Amino acid sequence: MEQQEQSGQIQTDTFLAQIGNHQNPVTGSINTPIYFSTTYEHPTLGESTGYDYTRTKNPTREVVESALAVLENGAVGLATSSGMSAIQLVFSQFPVGSQIVASRDLYGGSYRYFKELEYQGMYQFIYVDDEAGFEKAITDETAAVFIETPTNPLMSEVSLEKIAIFTKQHQAQLIVDNTFYTPLIQRPLDLGADIVLHSATKYLGGHNDLLAGAVIARSQEVGERLAYSLNTTGAVLSPFDSWLLIRGLKTLALRMERHEKNAQAVVAYLKSSPYVNEVMYPGRGGMLSFKIKNQEMIKEFLLNLTIFTYAESLGGVESLITYPTTQTHADIPKELRESYGLTPDLLRISTGIEASEDLIADLKQAFELLA
Ligand SMILES: *Cc1c(COP(=O)(O)O)cnc(C)c1O
Repeated sequence: MEQQEQSGQIQTDTFLAQIGNHQNPVTGSINTPIYFSTTYEHPTLGESTGYDYTRTKNPTREVVESALAVLENGAVGLATSSGMSAIQLVFSQFPVGSQIVASRDLYGGSYRYFKELEYQGMYQFIYVDDEAGFEKAITDETAAVFIETPTNPLMSEVSLEKIAIFTKQHQAQLIVDNTFYTPLIQRPLDLGADIVLHSATKYLGGHNDLLAGAVIARSQEVGERLAYSLNTTGAVLSPFDSWLLIRGLKTLALRMERHEKNAQAVVAYLKSSPYVNEVMYPGRGGMLSFKIKNQEMIKEFLLNLTIFTYAESLGGVESLITYPTTQTHADIPKELRESYGLTPDLLRISTGIEASEDLIADLKQAFELLA
């Protein structure tokens, strides 16, 4: 990994491996207990142990929330029931009529949610493609800027530092969906963002067995406002799922190293393949896309694969291949998708942690069977 930053006094790898350890003085349990209790006894009138009701605060969720805050270097971390509920929570801050500037090449579900907000008359969205577009679109009318970098599925990066300059000039909030890179590759709050969020279903959870979201705020004030809103609306992460997320996070550093190494190996292979037109990879992380030469062969190619699984989602230990046109990005109108390069010859890969030789051999045999 390019970044090996410190979390407090220790390295991130150490911090991750020990999430929840040294926190249970009564039993000394190394693993965080799952507190299923929804309610908590009050010692007497007007007193509380600090825990009243699990929607408001839960000891297992608290462990993962504070770990998320440390990892993204924010003041407050919140764990939600899904990536979409994390996005919904962040958007609950803005009054009706607010203007939002967003990256055009977005996760299809975010695009669908923004369309829904627009339909309800909540907000006005302006979509832009690059840094120059952001500079032009962000004005004093802008309440917030929503960015994915790298973009999905075209894998282009924008400079968060530059965009943070524009958002600060106009007192707009900079929100970054950091699902693809994770804090091990990019820490948006350190680059000037105000809020970072994740679909923790992906790399943070890492095992394709958990639906979860994360929101981390740079300032205490914004974080407290969001915590208030989360308690009010209720899409919190359950105690068991909080524990699964802790479990996943412990190996995040190891996994990201292998995801990245595998992605680089697959990219090198695809670039040399006569069946491939174009490979899109930003040089970091475990996500890549490519355009197949003969689009008619996609169905057969997917059937030929034996190690890669044809499925949506990403960031788990198993390698997945996705066809964004009919899966993750199906809700973006065809003309719009194709106008910015999301064409029907494009496939997206999330490299897992398998041996790269096997991944390459699988792609190779799947192409060669086409003929
Ligand atoms: C999956 C995903 C989401 C939505 O998260 P869920 O956990 O599926 O609700 C949001 N943003 C990105 C970049 C994603 O990949």
